[in-house]
Amino acid sequence: SANKNYLPGTFKKKLPSNQDHKLPKFVSPLLGTKMYNGNKNSTKRNKLNPNIESDEERLKNIDPKMIEMIQNEIMDRSPNITWNDIAGLEHAKKTIQEAVTWPLLRPDIFTGLRSPPKGLLLFGPPGTGKTLIGKCIARYYIFYQKACVNRNLWVEIGIDPTLAVKIYHIALNNIFKVEISNDHFHCSSSSLTSKWVGDGEKMVRALFAVARVNQPAVVFVDEIDSLLTQRTDGEYESSRRIKTEFLVQFDGVKTASLEEDRILVVGATNRPQEIDEAARRRFRKKLYIPLPENEGRFTIVKNLLSKQKHLLTDEQIRDICGKTAGYSGSDMDGLCREAALGPIRIIGDIRTISADEVRPINYQDFLDAITQVRASVSDRDLELYQRWNQEYGSLS
Ligand code: ADP
Repeated sequence: SANKNYLPGTFKKKLPSNQDHKLPKFVSPLLGTKMYNGNKNSTKRNKLNPNIESDEERLKNIDPKMIEMIQNEIMDRSPNITWNDIAGLEHAKKTIQEAVTWPLLRPDIFTGLRSPPKGLLLFGPPGTGKTLIGKCIARYYIFYQKACVNRNLWVEIGIDPTLAVKIYHIALNNIFKVEISNDHFHCSSSSLTSKWVGDGEKMVRALFAVARVNQPAVVFVDEIDSLLTQRTDGEYESSRRIKTEFLVQFDGVKTASLEEDRILVVGATNRPQEIDEAARRRFRKKLYIPLPENEGRFTIVKNLLSKQKHLLTDEQIRDICGKTAGYSGSDMDGLCREAALGPIRIIGDIRTISADEVRPINYQDFLDAITQVRASVSDRDLELYQRWNQEYGSLS
């Protein structure tokens, strides 16, 4: 069968010659689909479920160069974030669990009225952990999907269930991170980006096609407001086309089988008020990601300090947190970085000192840092988020 080439053993050994990408190819135990590798002889129909489109159908009419670019450049290969890395935000975490993880664990129960949302919007001030959450969801989404699979199915498609761990690991890489600006896709790590200016809507199509082939997948769109802003007269034709294509793909309306897609679109935005009504409706869950509370700030500082030599007592850390109301998570990160420079600043000659001669970070370093690093979110902005949350946010 066509799947023979993808037996787990081949991960370690030489990959077939047409697979010289950096990323190992894997077979989704769920559907018997595999990552597109340009092989025109791939099975026409999905073996396990003939009603589901084959990879070939999904990718037809899509520029192979774009597919390659998405696989090589856009897929984020290291979403190693866990929920423990995200401080505070208990409400958001709980809601996500209910909306995302439970349905994954028990897809048989979460059907019909209980079917999980396909769109999740995270909104709130900058630097509050939206991107971290997006990564975390992607990781768990994929993990649970794989874990739910009936292991007999794996045997059927030629995968040794004892190798599951390896497959999870590879599957965890399955996150697509896209940054989109007005008229083109921007992929920060990519040098190829400029080539695709003006081809935005084709990229949107290619992105969803690749996601479908690699499902379960999460399409994470950072700064999604720039993609879904309200239509204005002066709007560029190209960005209008990108938006339209995105909404079409989001709906997955083209064929009934797309209903079965296990693709979750997660959008993050600092400017929710700029998202138009049509787009807003499609995100069934809209979660407010607020500034961290005192406790959240404490956890962030504690975590960051745990990796450094320091002399601060918990009480002193609490004191710092009391002085930093209104700071975002990334402000706290900046504060700790600034404080960590304290011990360095007093060193006369950085070239000659040995690393263990650098004194530990202390309370005074933090007090000094507070005078340098200020809260980045204004009260006026906060009010805007709160109002938007009252009007459109999902409370549970
Ligand atoms: P945004 O909400 O703008 O997407 P990010 O998720 O990119 O913010 O967070 C930026 C940085 O701030 C993170 O890399 C992390 O260091 C810190 N940070 C923000 N929020 C949290 C949080 N809740 N817990 C831990 N770190 C956080």
